[in-house]
Amino acid sequence: MGIRKILTKGDPSLKKKSRAVTEFNPRLHQLLDDMRDTLEQANGVGLAAPQVGVLRRVVIVEDVSGDEPVIYELVNPEIAEAQGEQIGPEGCLSLPDIWGIVTRPEHVKVKAQDRFGNEFFLEADELLARACCHEIDHLEGVLFDEIADRFLDDEELAALSADEE
Ligand code: ZN
Repeated sequence: MGIRKILTKGDPSLKKKSRAVTEFNPRLHQLLDDMRDTLEQANGVGLAAPQVGVLRRVVIVEDVSGDEPVIYELVNPEIAEAQGEQIGPEGCLSLPDIWGIVTRPEHVKVKAQDRFGNEFFLEADELLARACCHEIDHLEGVLFDEIADRFLDDEELAALSADEE
């Protein structure tokens, strides 16, 4: 298990733009494996490499819509198409205490490469679309608190965590 430390707001790495991955080597695979372990331990639905201090265009997102969660590894991801709009709560492992209302596309088509460099497209709706947009923002040094319409108050936070239980 390779658990990496998740950086929190204030760390300068979170504000930087990440560089493209050009080598699909064992070091990238180790990073992805560690990001999976780190995400699982932190109980999140997405993680971007800059959150663990690596300024490379690598993210993982978890699809929780099916019976079993599926993790997608997205290297050099780009939003190829976006449709519709969803307005809903969003959190971030790097901003542990706040939740905001963020407007995102309802559906996105993401172009990415897998850990071996093979190109593929991921079609994502609802929460997975939100997670893809959120994680890709991290690669540009953008955190959700900069684009949130507003933040949830204590009462709304309590209701949100009750929903999750
Ligand atoms: Zn985040």
